[in-house]
Amino acid sequence: MSRTRFTSVALGILCGPILCCWIAIASCCCPGQLQRHGESEDRKRFERRQIMAPRPLPVRPPERALTIPVPVPSTEHKKDARKTLHQSGSRLLSLPLELREMIWRKAVGDNTFHIVLKKNKLGHLRCKAPRTIDCPLGFNGRTLSRACCWGMVDSANIWQPKAGSSSKHSDGDILPLLQSCRQIYSEAIQYLYTTNCFSFYDLDCLRYFSCTTLPSRFSLIRTIDISWCLTWPIYDPVAQSFLLTSPALYPPHDEASWEETWRVIASMQNLNFIRVSLLYFDGFRDRRCERKMLAPLRHVTRPRRFEVHVSWLGDDAAAEGAPFTLIRPTAPEGESD
Ligand SMILES: [Zn+2]
Repeated sequence: MSRTRFTSVALGILCGPILCCWIAIASCCCPGQLQRHGESEDRKRFERRQIMAPRPLPVRPPERALTIPVPVPSTEHKKDARKTLHQSGSRLLSLPLELREMIWRKAVGDNTFHIVLKKNKLGHLRCKAPRTIDCPLGFNGRTLSRACCWGMVDSANIWQPKAGSSSKHSDGDILPLLQSCRQIYSEAIQYLYTTNCFSFYDLDCLRYFSCTTLPSRFSLIRTIDISWCLTWPIYDPVAQSFLLTSPALYPPHDEASWEETWRVIASMQNLNFIRVSLLYFDGFRDRRCERKMLAPLRHVTRPRRFEVHVSWLGDDAAAEGAPFTLIRPTAPEGESD
């Protein structure tokens, strides 16, 4: 017997019982974890999300700018020249600018918009709660959702309208006003991005939002709210090596998607407030794994207020020197960690 083969057999004999014990314990104590790693289910979900992904914003020629003043088209785009008609007959546009801006802000601002995944596009649903924090967050057995606010998502996290609801009411009712007139669009668009809270329940929603929105608009955003269910065993290489699946975690549940999301957030120039709610059923048994998970958040230094609410107990030192406040649930009496 060759030396390599002898080593493989010896490893098999040594590791076999450990692996059997692990599977037995995991299937008794955490059956959901083993079941979740039916690779074909994860793969199917991932592939469906890839098919349904929105396309990134194409690079638009300056002649297609929506805001006024409308740029003069170049000679080869002369036929695409857009007309801007004078609105002197409009009673609404005859109001002083200060009053008009108050109206635009009331119509499109000071609200929370849940950004949801739809087929090949994103949707924006106006929150029914007075504040984002009042919008109840639930777990539907697979992922986080706000069922009583905007309905359900399917197994791939794609939004499903409530039975009987009209799809025309599903997009915040802000587009008709913005599309009605170039002057209104130009005056109102800033309030959409600067005064609303954008709420995300899926990491892909935020990443798609960043590449389907004009960079100059995306950078105006000041408030975001993120709810995310972390998938076991993120940042736990030992547990991942026992899963025998490749990859151990499919995007957006993997470490790369998590880190990319925080790179996008760190690049947002005008962020003032971030609220993050993280759910992880087992919590982090290894403090080093939790620290690795929190490390990308340390690069987000611009917001004046940055709250990270987690569903598990742990060590307060995990947020030492961090730009965010780590808020853990209150431990039951007599339980320290
Ligand atoms: Zn809501």
